[in-house]
Amino acid sequence: MLLGVSPLPPQVRPLTDSLGRPLRDLRISVTDRCNLRCTYCMPGEVFGPDFAFLPKSELLSFEELERLSRLFVAGGVQKLRLTGGEPLLRRGLPDLIARLTTIPGVQDIAMTTNGLLLPRLAQDLKKAGLKRVTVSLDSLDPEIFGRMNGLGIHPDKVLDGIEAALTAGLGVKINTVVQRGVNDASLGELWAALKDRAVLRFIEFMDVGNHNGWNLDAVLPPGEVLARLGGDFTPAQAHYQGEVATRYTDAHGHEAGLITSVTAPFCGDCTRARLSAVGVLYTCLFATGGLDLRGPLRGGQSDTQLAELLARTWTQRRDRYSEERGSRTRSDGPKVEMSHIGG
Ligand code: SAM
Ligand code: SF4
Ligand code: SF4
Repeated sequence: MLLGVSPLPPQVRPLTDSLGRPLRDLRISVTDRCNLRCTYCMPGEVFGPDFAFLPKSELLSFEELERLSRLFVAGGVQKLRLTGGEPLLRRGLPDLIARLTTIPGVQDIAMTTNGLLLPRLAQDLKKAGLKRVTVSLDSLDPEIFGRMNGLGIHPDKVLDGIEAALTAGLGVKINTVVQRGVNDASLGELWAALKDRAVLRFIEFMDVGNHNGWNLDAVLPPGEVLARLGGDFTPAQAHYQGEVATRYTDAHGHEAGLITSVTAPFCGDCTRARLSAVGVLYTCLFATGGLDLRGPLRGGQSDTQLAELLARTWTQRRDRYSEERGSRTRSDGPKVEMSHIGG
C-alpha cells in the first residue's frame, strides 16, 4: 500500500491550468443514484419514482476507473475522493478502494457519503484501505432533517453510520449544508453534540444544478454561522495552501470549518477535477459541459492518447464560476447536476 508518504511515480507530468492552478484532486462519482432526496441536491419532485437513472452498463467499471485514475495521478493528482449520488450504493465499492490504493503517487483516498450504509460497510471499507470518510448531516432535529433529506429519514440513522465508521477506525468529518430559515437555528445543537467526535464543516448553500431553488438570501455568511454555534472562535492556520475550508477553533480546541463558496469564493486555489459516473471530466462544479473520456477509453485509445486529452483540457481550463457569480441572487442555468459530479 502506498498511501501516506509515497514518492511521485516516475512518469508524473504535473499539469497546470491557464490560470496557474495545478491539478491536485480528483472527485470520482461512482453512481448517480441516491437513497435520499435532499431538497438542495436531488429534490423528490424532479428525482421521483419515474426518474431514469443510468443503467449499469453506462457507468465506468472499476477497471476503467482505476485506469483513468492512474492517468490523473500521472497528471499531478494526489488526492482521490469517491462520491455520488450516494457512493455506498455502488456494489463492491471496497474493491474499488483496494484497487485505488495500489496506485503509486496517491497520497489520500476519501469518500463523501450520507452515512446510511456505513453500519453495513464501514469495516470492509477500512480493510480495503480507506482512511477517512466525510459524512453529510444537516441537523439533529428529526423534523428538520427529515424535511431536508426529502424522505423523512431520522438523524439517528446517520449517527449510527458515524458510530460505525469511528468503531471501524475511520477518521470522520461531518458536512453540514446551511440554509437560512431551514436548519440554521439547529446548528448549535449539532455542534454541541458532535464537536467531540468529529471535525464539523459548514457549507454555504450553493446554486449547483438546476432544481434546488437557490437564492442568495438563504446563504448564511461565516459570522452568522459561528454565532449560531455559540462560544468564542478564533481563526486557525490553514493546513495547506488551497484548503477549501476556513478553519476556526473554539476555546477547547474543537474545530469548525466553514466552506464559503458563495460569500468568499476560492477559485484562485481550485485544484479539483471531477469525473462523472459515465466518465465525463468536469473542470468546475458549475460547468455546463465536460470532456467525455469514456468514449475514447472504450473506443480503444491508448493511455498516451487519453493522457493527451486530459492534458489539453486541464491546461486550457479557465473556470472561476464562484468568483464570477458576483451579485447574482438567483441561480442561472443550465449546469451539471450535483448528483452527477458529487460536490
Ligand atoms: N451522497 C453523498 C453525501 O450526501 O454526502 C455524496 C454526494 S453529495 C452531492 C456531496 C456533498 O455535496 C454533500 O456533503 C452535500 O451535502 C453537498 N451538497 C449537495 N448539494 C449542495 C448544495 N446545493 N449546496 C452545498 N452543498 C451541497
Ligand atoms: Fe443524495 Fe448526497 Fe445529494 Fe443528499 S446530498 S440527495 S445524500 S447525493
Ligand atoms: Fe473551483 Fe469552479 Fe468552485 Fe471556482 S466555482 S472553486 S473553479 S469548482
